[in-house]
Amino acid sequence: MSYSMNTYSRIPVAFTHGKGSWLWDQSGKKYLDALAGIAVNTLGHAHPKLTRAIADQCARLIHASNLYQIAEQERLAEKLAKISGMEATFFCNSGCEANEAAIKLARLYGHGKGVESPGIVVMDKAFHGRTLATLSATGNRKVQAGFEPLVPGFVRVPLNDIQAVRDVAAQDKSVVAVLVEPIQGEGGINLTTMQYLRELREVCDRQGWLLMVDEVQCGLGRTGKWFVYQHAGIRPDVVLLAKGLASGVPIGACLARGTAAAVFKPGTHGSTFGGNPLACTAALVTLEAIEEEGLMENADRVGAVLLGGLRDALAGRPGVVEVRGHGLMIGVELARPCGELVGRALEAGLLINVTMDNVVRLLPPLTMNDVEARQVLAILIPLVSEFLAKAPVAARA
Ligand code: PLP
Repeated sequence: MSYSMNTYSRIPVAFTHGKGSWLWDQSGKKYLDALAGIAVNTLGHAHPKLTRAIADQCARLIHASNLYQIAEQERLAEKLAKISGMEATFFCNSGCEANEAAIKLARLYGHGKGVESPGIVVMDKAFHGRTLATLSATGNRKVQAGFEPLVPGFVRVPLNDIQAVRDVAAQDKSVVAVLVEPIQGEGGINLTTMQYLRELREVCDRQGWLLMVDEVQCGLGRTGKWFVYQHAGIRPDVVLLAKGLASGVPIGACLARGTAAAVFKPGTHGSTFGGNPLACTAALVTLEAIEEEGLMENADRVGAVLLGGLRDALAGRPGVVEVRGHGLMIGVELARPCGELVGRALEAGLLINVTMDNVVRLLPPLTMNDVEARQVLAILIPLVSEFLAKAPVAARA
């Protein structure tokens, strides 16, 4: 009997500790972690510099209210501004809260321009969180079902279809912003083209819309640059972060620049825990380690090992729709549901995930090395091959 609410179909394994890319369960079995808590454990497990910094910070000060100045928060906001090209950050505790902040910011921005009922363009298959506003922005009926009435004010378009966005611009004068994940994570590792991001920037500039980029899953070095939008050479107006920012300590951030950075005023938004000294210290150390240890270059190199290995072995085979990804964000889309691969991999000592029922997803820590990446391939490729060789149940009947 569990006293936790029944919100997850949990895999029957509990981890006791980890080191680098490895985790151990209660029975002492060892696992190679190619998921990193769904893109959370940026520095892997038990990174010595991070654990020491967290312990030291706890010994000094865990929490201080946002009623007061918080030096660690200021330092982190400055660092984020430097690496992102943004100017100001609002801190919260999760990805949905970061998105929620952006939605509020866009609405306030719209009202400031005299738009009575401001709308936001969002994408098919998007995932922005599970609060009422963010699940309404999410493009997945499963996430929304049962929670109607949804929050209004979202206009949905297909990803990578700039004409659809231009059509909205021509027809709907209440729109004030676009919200997009440069690589959709939960939606199945769907990459936006760099051209599309640049064209979105152009449309937003022309319309006076805010370009709001949700890099909660894909950002923070995972693709070889700090942020995916930097590959496109553009600067959004709003950038959303969470997950990997503090390598496992809960944190979320809504970064903004220009007009967007000045929308919130005292009293318009807030968070009790947001930007506390503990989370900010963990984030500062995470960002420092990404730089000092060359983890963006590592993500690039090790990502190429993984993606190349998976492509060589699987691309073009019957039953494989596509092998795609960027850096350490990789998806293998199969032609039929493949959730059972998660259990098979677990038995074999590998942690992976399947999203959208048929996309095997890898999001390893940025510290994963080449040898470990080859171990991932050595376990995963035979499992996928075995799965592909097996006729689907319906076909056998
Ligand atoms: N945005 C994106 C792109 C995400 O991938 C997620 C979570 O998977 C969220 C927002 C929501 O983050 P959280 O679960 O921390 O609320």
